[in-house]
Amino acid sequence: MERLDRFMARANAAYYAHQDPFRDFTTSPEISQVFGEILGLWAAVTWELIGRPDPVLLVELGPGRGTLMADALRAIGGVAPGFRAALHLHLVESSSRLRAIQAERLPGVIWHSTLEAVPHESVLVLANEFLDALPIRQFVRRRGGWMERFVADGQFVEIEAGLPPPAPLPQGEGEGVVVECGEAGLALASSLAARVVARPGAALFLDYGPEVSAPGDSLQALRDGRPADPLTMPGTADLTAHVDFAALARAAMGAGAAVSGPVAQGLFLARLGLFQRINRLATGKSPGHAAALVEAGRRLAEPNRMGRLFKALAITSPAVPTPPGFEG
Ligand code: SAH
Repeated sequence: MERLDRFMARANAAYYAHQDPFRDFTTSPEISQVFGEILGLWAAVTWELIGRPDPVLLVELGPGRGTLMADALRAIGGVAPGFRAALHLHLVESSSRLRAIQAERLPGVIWHSTLEAVPHESVLVLANEFLDALPIRQFVRRRGGWMERFVADGQFVEIEAGLPPPAPLPQGEGEGVVVECGEAGLALASSLAARVVARPGAALFLDYGPEVSAPGDSLQALRDGRPADPLTMPGTADLTAHVDFAALARAAMGAGAAVSGPVAQGLFLARLGLFQRINRLATGKSPGHAAALVEAGRRLAEPNRMGRLFKALAITSPAVPTPPGFEG
């Protein structure tokens, strides 16, 4: 028997070590090159806002195939030579299989297995669909108390929780209500916050989850591209949970950092010129190619696709002006 977060950590470590995640799901940087370009330009502008620290570590958490960073660097090289010259690339990646793929796209990078191992310099951190893969705990309301979910033989087992869940409790705690707590994500937000309080820095997270903390079981699995039972055959499916942006924001502010957002991904990308860039890219292309580029941009931004469920959240040093995309 294993606590759910330990089960999820073990299952995902095995999954990312041995499987090709991109067979099971498609992420924003794989949909359109403009996604990574916009994040690169965000980093360049934010570098100016935090006072142009030199050197600065450009850090990506969970870089997948390295696509986002390759697109970001191309955009940065074109418009921000000062930032390009000041930055050093560091990747946080646990899978040696994916590190090998990233090495082909991004020569000269330095890898770490955890954020803690990244040197204590000024950082600009980018992370897309990283937090959703981090382990969560789940608590269930039973007869006025709380039980915690463990996993045994492919099924949930409920064990008396000694303490109430370390998570924001829902209003009207009804029988059977499930609340989740992503301790690993919260610890990451606090430790990033401590870094940007100690020296100029910023981080940008894009992931999916609600705007306000909400109860409910959001654990899901994708195997061979289809929804699957998260508790059976660990290591053969990608396990994810919704990201609790409000809780991450509280953790970062609690550690003294400034927080912007969350804002919906569609709004964030539109404010940063998604459709202008797509149109420029489409100019002069064949009608079929141009239509595909526009369709990719819509997939990222339309509310009923990735535009609303996905959110952007920034954590910055205190007293830094609002970073691009979060105004208003
Ligand atoms: N950001 C990429 C990939 C998302 S998939 C994209 O948008 O396409 C999640 C990535 O995070 C993979 O690279 C996976 O190996 C990595 N990852 C997942 N859990 C991790 C952990 N606990 N520590 C470090 N890397 C992790």
